[in-house]
Amino acid sequence: MNSILEIEGLTVKYKTRYGTVHALSNVSFSVKKGSIVGIIGESGSGKSTLGHTILRTLPENARIESGKIMFEGSDLLEIDEEVFRREFRWKKISMIFQNSMNAFSPVHRIQDQLLDVARKCFPNKSRNELLEIIKEKLRIANIDESVLKKYPHELSGGQRQRVAIGMALLADPEIVIADEPTTGLDVVTQYQILNRLKEIQKDLGITLLLITHDVSVVAALSTDVLVLYAGKVLEYGDIKRVFKNSHHPYTYLLLRSYPEMGKEKLYEIPGSPPDLRNPPSGCVFHPRCPYATDLCRKEEPKLVEIEEGHFSACHYATSFNKEVNSL
Ligand code: ATP
Ligand code: MG
Repeated sequence: MNSILEIEGLTVKYKTRYGTVHALSNVSFSVKKGSIVGIIGESGSGKSTLGHTILRTLPENARIESGKIMFEGSDLLEIDEEVFRREFRWKKISMIFQNSMNAFSPVHRIQDQLLDVARKCFPNKSRNELLEIIKEKLRIANIDESVLKKYPHELSGGQRQRVAIGMALLADPEIVIADEPTTGLDVVTQYQILNRLKEIQKDLGITLLLITHDVSVVAALSTDVLVLYAGKVLEYGDIKRVFKNSHHPYTYLLLRSYPEMGKEKLYEIPGSPPDLRNPPSGCVFHPRCPYATDLCRKEEPKLVEIEEGHFSACHYATSFNKEVNSL
């Protein structure tokens, strides 16, 4: 497999006044070059933390306890901060941040903010050359260059999101992490932006990590899917395999809780995600899992490859799969 990114045993915690939050625990997966990996999970499952860890934009109170992020032969977590800033962030890996209103400073015009990022990427280019690059990327993101003279609050949510896409593309990165790129937008705008993002990904040969809690977005766009729950990978693999033939009760229930998936009966997953300051013993999903046994309460299941490129962290991955398929 031609992988562009390999994440191995990533564990990230946040220190807070009220305790330590186990935001990511032993997360491992590899990303194929040119794929669109949908990263799904309920609120608080660690999706944004994963994106920020890869781009090394975690807040001060976060600590990477262990793990590697291998990209082009080096561990991104070991690279000197200055080198990372100069050669990796925006240039090789960029991010479309969750909530574009916060991604831009309210007191500066769009043009100045884009120039700021462009200058970091191309320190030797003139202002006019940088503006040409910016305009080209805005065209790709399908937004008129007249937005350059405006302040962020003068743009609609959809326009801001397109500017954020243009900004992420400035230096032709190899990987783009899109964190909930369309949340909060109306359905039509959402559809247009996601379609454009998919076209861009294909045209430019980018690898896209698409973070969302919306299963239908993942179903429409992704080639692969990573199911995160309480900071752990519960299932990972090719989208068709994972969605059509889930080997984890959480994925199975998550898919059934979405009306778009064409299921006759909507299912609500009982309970809510655990408090990550004090995660449950054994399998993190056991308190909500209708199939849990004593083993699940006691022993944490490993992430195991159940068929080529398809991983599940469930003690009963195979028997569960047979059971639900015979229903
Ligand atoms: P959402 O869908 O709501 O965006 P998410 O999947 O992106 O959620 P994260 O934002 O990565 O989840 O959060 C993972 C866990 O870490 C949550 O329990 C969250 O409360 C906690 N967390 C996130 N940022 C911080 C922080 N700066 N300080 C302390 N805890 C944090
Ligand atoms: Mg998030």
